[in-house]
Amino acid sequence: MSAGASGTPGRLVLKGGTVVDRDGERRADVAVEHGQVVEVADVVGPQAGDVVLDAGGCVVSPGFVDLHVHLREPGREEAETIETGSRAAALGGFTAVVAMPNTEPAQDDVSVVEFVRAEGERAGLCEVLPAGCITVGRAGETLAPIGELAAAGVHLFTDDGNGVQDPLLMRRALEYAKGLGVTLAQHCEVASLTRGAVMHEGACCSRLGVPGWPALAEELMVFRDIELCRLTGARVHLLHLSTARSVELVRQAKADGLAVTAEVAPHHFTLTDEHLRGFDPVYKVNPPLRTPDDIAALKAGLADGTIDAIATDHAPHPPESKEQPLDEAPPGMLGLETALGLALTELADLDLSLVELVGLLSWRPAAIAGVADRHGVRVRPGSPANLTVFDPQHSWQVTPSALASKSRNTPYAGRTLRGKVRHTVLRGAAVVVDGEARR
Ligand SMILES: [Zn+2]
Repeated sequence: MSAGASGTPGRLVLKGGTVVDRDGERRADVAVEHGQVVEVADVVGPQAGDVVLDAGGCVVSPGFVDLHVHLREPGREEAETIETGSRAAALGGFTAVVAMPNTEPAQDDVSVVEFVRAEGERAGLCEVLPAGCITVGRAGETLAPIGELAAAGVHLFTDDGNGVQDPLLMRRALEYAKGLGVTLAQHCEVASLTRGAVMHEGACCSRLGVPGWPALAEELMVFRDIELCRLTGARVHLLHLSTARSVELVRQAKADGLAVTAEVAPHHFTLTDEHLRGFDPVYKVNPPLRTPDDIAALKAGLADGTIDAIATDHAPHPPESKEQPLDEAPPGMLGLETALGLALTELADLDLSLVELVGLLSWRPAAIAGVADRHGVRVRPGSPANLTVFDPQHSWQVTPSALASKSRNTPYAGRTLRGKVRHTVLRGAAVVVDGEARR
């Protein structure tokens, strides 16, 4: 990094990279000033006062958007805070994250939502978009004040951690959401089928003799919500899908022209239920890790556009809670800092172009989150400067102690991944430079 002689703050120039956005791929330098992209050209000549960041060998793309993170604050600050989670996000290349509402108190109230957003602003590392609850306290009994929360800027609503069990309540919520133009996101799990479950119900589960989480518990709710989408015309986003049949249901819904979108988490296309054979809770997630056939179907869904987004379901837990026996340990694993590397490494065998891959991390989730005016935007003069610069060839080893998250529950410790974020630019400011957070 070099600054010009004048000492006055000038432009930020990303030099030597390849721009990848929805228009395609081309070699270009990118200059940013006052929060906007101001120049995209073969060569942007540095001026006095410019800060130049090397993007040689790197992709310069619109910032990534994670539709699914648990930042734990308020209420569980020993696991993560909005600041530590935002830092992990920025290091992972995310310029915006949707914060799930299973906080304590839950994000079913304007004051809580405003607190989360304000803490995100204070940290200044990525835009934190609080999701609102569908029902009060995520209890599934009465509707949360969706209208008030929408008026306060909330676009995505979910009881994540729980699925909304009552189909009539979900129908009413969707009718309400349609009028407001907001999206309901569902954690698809029919709870009566998963009571006490610790892992995917299948051969490995039988061998270990533990209660299973059948694929059907997810698929029934995916089916129900697709039909409720058909009935109401409201937008439905399906969170962290994990089974082959779920992908098939979404594929059919899209063929029918329904306003259904879906996401998949990196762990669901990289790990199987067999990883639980040692009873290690680091592999416990909800929905659970599935089978090689499910992985193949999730990948096919990512490759043919059925799945709209890669979302991490970043779920930090402190060691004392993850080191309990498998049946007592909470589900979830870290995701923000490994998502890009896992996508580039594990999806390399798919027929996905770099544009399509970046789309799964950037503009497609940005549209679902309702922030397409400022994230995932084409890299051209006048665009908001929320950008990710990553080296798709850089190999690195996952070291839990080096992660910015307050928690360490990653199953990828020691794993070598290809692809790493070099710089992240938020509203024109470099918040990550050469893989180091600046805030
Ligand atoms: Zn969930």
